[in-house]
Amino acid sequence: MSHEAHITRFAPSPTGYLHLGNARTAFFNFLAARAGGGCLVLRIEDTDAGRSEEHLLAQLLEDLRWLGLEWDEGPDVGGPHAPYRQSERGEQYSAAIATLKQKGLVYPCFCTPEELQLSRRAQLAAGRPPRYAGTCTRLPDAEVAARVAAGQSPAMRFRVPPGRGGEFDDRIHGPQRFATDDIGDFVVTRADGSAAFFLSNAIDDAAMGVTLVLRGDDHLANTPRQILLLEALGLPIPRYGHLPLLLGPSGSPLSKREGAAGLHELREQGYLPSALCNYLVRLGHACGTDDWLEAADMPAHFHLERTSRSAARFDEAQLRHWQREAVGHASAGELVAWLGSRLERLGSAARIDAFVAAVRGNLLFPDDAVPLVAIVCDDGVRPDAEAAAAIENAGAEFFRTAAREWSSSAGDFKAWTRSVGTATGQKGAALFRPLRAALTGLTHGPELAPLVALMGAARVESRLAAAAERAGGKSRE
Ligand code: GLU
Repeated sequence: MSHEAHITRFAPSPTGYLHLGNARTAFFNFLAARAGGGCLVLRIEDTDAGRSEEHLLAQLLEDLRWLGLEWDEGPDVGGPHAPYRQSERGEQYSAAIATLKQKGLVYPCFCTPEELQLSRRAQLAAGRPPRYAGTCTRLPDAEVAARVAAGQSPAMRFRVPPGRGGEFDDRIHGPQRFATDDIGDFVVTRADGSAAFFLSNAIDDAAMGVTLVLRGDDHLANTPRQILLLEALGLPIPRYGHLPLLLGPSGSPLSKREGAAGLHELREQGYLPSALCNYLVRLGHACGTDDWLEAADMPAHFHLERTSRSAARFDEAQLRHWQREAVGHASAGELVAWLGSRLERLGSAARIDAFVAAVRGNLLFPDDAVPLVAIVCDDGVRPDAEAAAAIENAGAEFFRTAAREWSSSAGDFKAWTRSVGTATGQKGAALFRPLRAALTGLTHGPELAPLVALMGAARVESRLAAAAERAGGKSRE
């Protein structure tokens, strides 16, 4: 399958944190751009000034970068179509409105939200789909002037051409048809003069040379209006692809309650970006392999044609699977950075590296390292119930023998366990389980030899002595 060179864009409104659904949309736009040597534009749709906050924007950029996304044009990196924040593009929108006015394709509308609401209700009650009733379609100029003079400020509505059909080929859902008679005249500038979504979003796509708009299904019904606007302005119409919703595990919309937190929270929980990417590239998209993919190989595995038409479901078990893979594939340096201050107690860089190599197979989240660091660094260990049973079962003599053999083994783990085996007559689990229980306080965990090397002779001796005492104490009872 060949890849086209798409100019894609991600156009978030910074009114909340990025959740997994938006992250997938952003990621698919990134992959579609990279797959064919195109480029990705990041445009911030912050016209809803009251609700957009600077810290949310900063968080958004950070989250996208953390995921590994890079954009070729955007508010922070600039580019030939700057500015990339809609709050700074008022002139472009005014120019578009002026053109539409000149062509007689917009008119002022004084309807209040209450009036519009009443009209909607009446239409719904009559079993008709609600659309603008046309109240202000043909207001005489004199009336408009009088209302404006009286301090009323109108919105501007686009005059949808009557009696026409239209179509577009959605890259995910296939051919779509629409009839203009089903579309009411819609607002292109609000009463406060700011550009409405339909206008700003569509003309920015055209102005920024976007060739493929990949966005959520919730915008599918908006596309005909945007196509009509672009046609009216003589602007190029991009291709569209509407991604099905991302649902929570129970099939309801994705929500925090069901564990599908924002990207930021998943990051705080300790998910690695490479795990998220391996998960997302398969979320409603058949990427053709179940194997781990490195970030650099993902674009080649992305094919719009393989995007599912039905809603995808968030599945935490799958995400955890990729997390396990991600930890396995991470470099030592990445893991050290991921574990951060949890490794401080280990001291030197050499000890940290040895520890990470020893325990990486036992980590899913960074906090999983905390009890393992304690095994190496604490003075003693407190055996859990299973370990206590294993110690008592082995008996005090077993640990006295182990301690004796230790002092003549010069810290050589293999030689030590071999001689303990010979001296006690135990092998396999009967040999290693009690030793592990005494030294780590657990009956399972990372390979024992490197942990023993890291904990050092003094800890080995005191833990064997403590185990002998525990087993002896019990056997005397
Ligand atoms: N700002 C819109 C949103 O976040 C963009 C929709 C689009 O991608 O066209 O829903």
